[in-house]
Amino acid sequence: VPEKRYLFTPGPTPVPPKVLAALAEPVIHHRGPDFKIVYRRCLDRLHEVFRTEGDVLLYTASGTGAMESAVANLCSPGDRVLTVSAGYFGERFAKIGRAYGCAVEELRYEWGESPSADDLASRLDELGGAHAVLLTHSETSTGVVADVHALAAAAKEAGALVVVDAISSLGAVPLETDAWGIDVVASGSQKALMTPPGLAMASVSQAAWEASRRSSSPRMYFDWETTREAQSRLDAPFTPAVSLVVALDVALGILLEEGLEAAFARHVRLGRACREGAKAMGLELFSPDDDRSAVVTAIRAPEGVDADELVLALRDRFGVTLAPGQGVLKGRVFRIGHIGYYDVFDVTTALAAVELGLAEAGADIERGVAVTRALDAYEEAARV
Ligand SMILES: *Cc1c(COP(=O)(O)O)cnc(C)c1O
Repeated sequence: VPEKRYLFTPGPTPVPPKVLAALAEPVIHHRGPDFKIVYRRCLDRLHEVFRTEGDVLLYTASGTGAMESAVANLCSPGDRVLTVSAGYFGERFAKIGRAYGCAVEELRYEWGESPSADDLASRLDELGGAHAVLLTHSETSTGVVADVHALAAAAKEAGALVVVDAISSLGAVPLETDAWGIDVVASGSQKALMTPPGLAMASVSQAAWEASRRSSSPRMYFDWETTREAQSRLDAPFTPAVSLVVALDVALGILLEEGLEAAFARHVRLGRACREGAKAMGLELFSPDDDRSAVVTAIRAPEGVDADELVLALRDRFGVTLAPGQGVLKGRVFRIGHIGYYDVFDVTTALAAVELGLAEAGADIERGVAVTRALDAYEEAARV
């Protein structure tokens, strides 16, 4: 494997040098004044990124911990919850619901389909409502970014609490926690938030707090009130991953300095560049050819090529890491992430590696056009 490595996966994602430098600083004590300064600023910045006036709870966990916290704090055994799933991560939400003894109903789509608010409304109508609706914003396994605004509205209309897995979308594509009436947004540090894995966040609305007081599910580490109460004193109930909080604070500063709207526009352009480049090579997209799909592009492996083998070969030969297909898509697609600390030259590098890797694998692809087309698409997108 070449020494120079390129990480083009939709999580973990590349980490900016300033964030890496912050990680290398001596560890500070989590109950001392130095940490309080960082903690406050980091929590304030999270509010801005989540676009909420409500609470944002910060956990040392992977993103799934924030998802689990939502079920543990909102639901009681036997509560009916409806999950909307069209891929790997939607199915995870159903699994968490079942683990907590909820009566899980699934509005299930083929992997790669985009969920519709009308379908959700009619399923809720059939069910006579649900305690909570669990949604995936960016289904990272397929590249589909769902219209969470419309889905949340349909769920609210039916009187359900709305929980959104925004682990790969927060900071990359628009998400309005308060304006869209989302009760819980779950996210993680290692995707568009440009920080290594290890921190999870959950925003909690007023209605979610009320539901949490009635929930009888067992919980301790993930009991929201325990963390809220401690955070309100800029303390933490359990030792946080101090260095990661320091790093996240720096990363959020970089994101907010760019501006959320500018970051969203950049991600749209990166998505277009990636899709146009892949198509120019003659490849078929698995994810929708749509500006909403700005997080990750899933591409079908051409005839006769195993996507997993391609991903391994790119890593071995060029030090380039792409994401393989998950679940039913294993071996059939490969995925190029384009979120966080990412620019158009990351897209062109990924495409160039794919082109070379596929040519070496004997695939019938068009050489010498993908990079130019990607650069052009990136420029064209800036003008619209
Ligand atoms: C990455 C991801 C997760 C899982 O997050 P972990 O940090 O691995 O627990 C869940 N949902 C989506 C949509 C993701 O992209």
